[in-house]
Amino acid sequence: MPIFIAMRTQHRYLVYKKNNKLLRTLSELSVKCKLLDKYIGESTHIYALEFSLYEDNSRFSIIKQEVDKFGLVAQIGSIFDIDDYAKANWFWVSVGEYQYPQPEDNFDYQKRSFNLDSYCEVCGIGKVQKAPIRLRTLPKQPKNDFWGIHWEHDIIFVRERAKRILENIGASGISFSKPVLHKNDHQIEDLFQLNIQTILEPGFNNYNTQELHCNAGNEENSQRELNADTIYCGRAKYHFPMIGGLNFNETIFDEQSDIVKTSEYFGSGASAFRLPIFSKKLKTILEKEKIRGIGFTPIFH
Ligand SMILES: [Zn+2]
Repeated sequence: MPIFIAMRTQHRYLVYKKNNKLLRTLSELSVKCKLLDKYIGESTHIYALEFSLYEDNSRFSIIKQEVDKFGLVAQIGSIFDIDDYAKANWFWVSVGEYQYPQPEDNFDYQKRSFNLDSYCEVCGIGKVQKAPIRLRTLPKQPKNDFWGIHWEHDIIFVRERAKRILENIGASGISFSKPVLHKNDHQIEDLFQLNIQTILEPGFNNYNTQELHCNAGNEENSQRELNADTIYCGRAKYHFPMIGGLNFNETIFDEQSDIVKTSEYFGSGASAFRLPIFSKKLKTILEKEKIRGIGFTPIFH
């Protein structure tokens, strides 16, 4: 177990059906809620109730017992506090996802943009990019300096401003390439794919999540209908840990690098991606420059 953990475990609830009894109960229990309850025009009613319970609350089990009576399902995950960010030297970065890579039908984008020689359709490991990512339209988020697409969670795009910052700090092990518009093959202006070449040595501590080997008997595949033709590659990946954060051996990180990817793959089903990780130095610079469109999650050791 990591030693310095100040994170909290959150149970987050989203409710889309009006329930006055639940509202009364939450109010009696002094649980803070965000509520959206309004009509648009005469017929469209929008209702969304959001609230969270925290395990470090001394009344957690009492409140949870009451909330459980409503049969709601919570998303459970860690949230990190200012101390976690202050102590971390490395951060997993995530960007918003705004478009599907093209052509999206039957996942045909994979054939266009990736070499699939060692790709496994079951676990999703093994794609190697060979050609530009193809987009349907120009990005419609002008304020985002960082930008992303659905399905390929480790592909990051940057705008000119962010590219310049990365170049100015002399970030090693990266290169930039251009995505194209699918309909005409034209390169997209002011958008670059950030290619991360440095892959860390293995060093993930999976004390808080499942290691899955790609085979017919693993936790995911044992529920599938048996198909004699299915080929399983045997490679390993991890479910993304929801509680306790990402824990890596500190020695795999090199102070000379600012941008790296993990050796390990993460994801479930046919999704497999390596985590892009930025240094604290780079995070500090990007925040100072008020760069937008990127989220940082601390790495623990
Ligand atoms: Zn596989």
